[in-house]
Amino acid sequence: MLDDKKIQELYNPLILGDDLIDKIIEAHKTVLKVGKTSNTEYAITICCETNATKIHTIGNHKSVAYLCEPDKSYIVIHNHPNNTPFSPRDLFSFYSGIHHKSLGVQCHDGTAYIISRGTLNNTAISFDKISEVFDRVRDAPEYINLTLREKREIAIFLIARRQGWVFLKGALI
Ligand SMILES: [Zn+2]
Repeated sequence: MLDDKKIQELYNPLILGDDLIDKIIEAHKTVLKVGKTSNTEYAITICCETNATKIHTIGNHKSVAYLCEPDKSYIVIHNHPNNTPFSPRDLFSFYSGIHHKSLGVQCHDGTAYIISRGTLNNTAISFDKISEVFDRVRDAPEYINLTLREKREIAIFLIARRQGWVFLKGALI
């Protein structure tokens, strides 16, 4: 179920106003709908100060965040047609955008993954380091029985913990 309480929980520790919650719910629904129709990825940027929204086709993940005004905080929500959690590129893009408060992924099976900045400093991390964690978890003998999706979730959890980010998963739609 997609409701205000669930959204507030998943976007923890951000404190969201009612208008922003409405925009986030709408964004999850929109990327799912347009994404399912075209089977491609879309991203919606929401400005936390003005609640203004913009929809973008993702040709290049890195470009999306920078379409926002650079000094305003923002939330980016995009869809994953193949139901995977965040990619290394998603995480690096989130890390690089200092005003990027939350990154949400809406999978086509209804699962949502949300990563949000906590109060800790933005510990430096490279794209190669992120990829290395993904590869290490994928190849680890102790995770041999897990699916690729579960392995990615573990890798994201480890990176989020290192960075002081909050990583949450929920069934949204
Ligand atoms: Zn993505």
